[in-house]
Amino acid sequence: EREELRLQARTPGSRAMHARAVRSMTGGVPSSYQARDPWPIYLTHGRGSRVWDVDGSEYCDFHNGFGSMVQGHAHPAIVRAVRERIGLGSHFAMPTEDSVIVSEELARRFGLPQWRYLNSGSEATMDAIRIARAVTGRETIIKIFGSYHGHHDYVMVSIGTPYDEIGPPDNMASLAYGEGIPRAVVDLTVPVPFNDAPAMERRIEALAADGRPPACVIMEAAMMNLGVVLPEPGYLEAVREITRRHGIVLIFDEVKTGLCVAPGGATERFGVRPDMVTLAKALGGGLPSGAVGATVEIMEVVASDRVKQVGTFNGNPLTMAAARASLLEVLTPQAYAYLDRLCELLIAGCDEILRRRGLPGYTVGISSKGCVHFTDAPIRDYTSFMAHQNAALPELAWLYNANRGVLMAPGREEEWTLSVQHTEADVDRYLDSLDALVRDVTS
Ligand code: PLP
Repeated sequence: EREELRLQARTPGSRAMHARAVRSMTGGVPSSYQARDPWPIYLTHGRGSRVWDVDGSEYCDFHNGFGSMVQGHAHPAIVRAVRERIGLGSHFAMPTEDSVIVSEELARRFGLPQWRYLNSGSEATMDAIRIARAVTGRETIIKIFGSYHGHHDYVMVSIGTPYDEIGPPDNMASLAYGEGIPRAVVDLTVPVPFNDAPAMERRIEALAADGRPPACVIMEAAMMNLGVVLPEPGYLEAVREITRRHGIVLIFDEVKTGLCVAPGGATERFGVRPDMVTLAKALGGGLPSGAVGATVEIMEVVASDRVKQVGTFNGNPLTMAAARASLLEVLTPQAYAYLDRLCELLIAGCDEILRRRGLPGYTVGISSKGCVHFTDAPIRDYTSFMAHQNAALPELAWLYNANRGVLMAPGREEEWTLSVQHTEADVDRYLDSLDALVRDVTS
C-alpha cells in the first residue's frame, strides 16, 4: 500500500490525463493491456534505454513496448530510415524494394524461403493458422496451455485461466479468454501442456481417432507469457518429429522471441526448424508489423490464391524501411552477443540477491528476455507456473520498480526486455530495485 501511494504521489499528471482520457477513450487507454488501477502512466517520449512520463519522471525501460523495442527507443538508424521514407510517401498498398530486402534477410535468418506481411502478431498467427488449415484440409489446431498468440478467436483459449477452474492437466477444458468468442471456434482449439511431448502425441492420436486430426501445432519454442519458460532438452526435437509423422504443420510463434534472442530467433537458438514462423513486435522497430514465413510448399496455397492473405497496410513502406534498418544496421551479430552478455549479468545479479537475502526463487533468461520466478519449484509449464509462481510478489515488484525509475511490463506473466541501447548501469539500476524489494519482503 505504501508503494501504491508513493506511485500515485509521483504521477499527478497521469492522473489528470486519465481523468480526461476516460471521457473519450474507453478506460482511458487504447488497449486493455495498457490499463492499470487507479490510472496508467502516460508517456511523452523515449530515447535509448529511457522513457519519460507526463510528469517529467524518467524510467529505465525494461517493458520496451511489450517486448518490441529491442533496438531501444529512437535508435538513430531507424529514425533516419523512417524520416527518409516518410518524405517519399508513407503508404501506397503497392510493394517497395524494402519489402524485398526484408524478405531476403528473414529467409536467410530463419531458413524459411517465403514471407508475407501483416500489421501485428495477432494477424500473423491468424494467417499462419488459416494457411496451415488450407494446406492440410483439417480444422482442429493445437496450442499450449497458458500460451498467448494474440487476440483473435482461434487462439483466445486457455490463457490466464484460473488454475482452480481448469483442474488437473488432463481434465482441462478449452476455455475462451473473455466473452464474445464463439463456442464453435473455441472447440477447434485444443491445448496441451508445454514440455511434454508424449502428452502432445496422446492428444493428437485421440483427436485423429475422433475424426479430427490437427492442422497445426502453434507454440512458442520458449514460452514468453509465463515469465520465461525454456524448452527442456529434447522437447522441441520430439515435437518436430511427432508433428512431421502426423502430417501436422509446426508453427513457431516467434512474435516475442524472433529477432530478440538470436539473429534467427528461437528457431536458430534451439536448432529446430518449424514449417512456419510468425514474427511481429521487434520486426518493425517500433512501427506496427507482422510477418509469416514458411516453406515454398506451404506458401503455395497463398501463391495460388487459394488462401486470401491480404491487408491494406501489409508491407507498409514506413514499416518496411524501419524493418530494413533494424535488420541490417541495428540487430547485427555483435548486437546479439552484447545482449547475451547483459543477460548473463542480469541473471547472475538477480540470483545473487535472492541467495544473499534468502528469498526462494531463481532467474531465467535468454538474450534480451528474462524474469525472476519467485519460487524454488521448477516452472516448466502452465500448471507449475500457476501452482508455484508467487501471486503477489510480481505485482509488488512492478510497483517497487516504477517508484525507483524502472519500467516493467505489468502482470506476473510478463518478462523484461533488454535493448541494444541498455548498458551495465541500466542492469545495476534493475538490480538495485530488486534488492530493495527483496530486502523489504525478507526483513
Ligand atoms: N504471439 C505472441 C507470442 C505474443 O506474445 C503476442 C503479443 O504479446 C502476440 C502473438 C500478439 O501480437 P500483437 O499484440 O502484435 O497482436
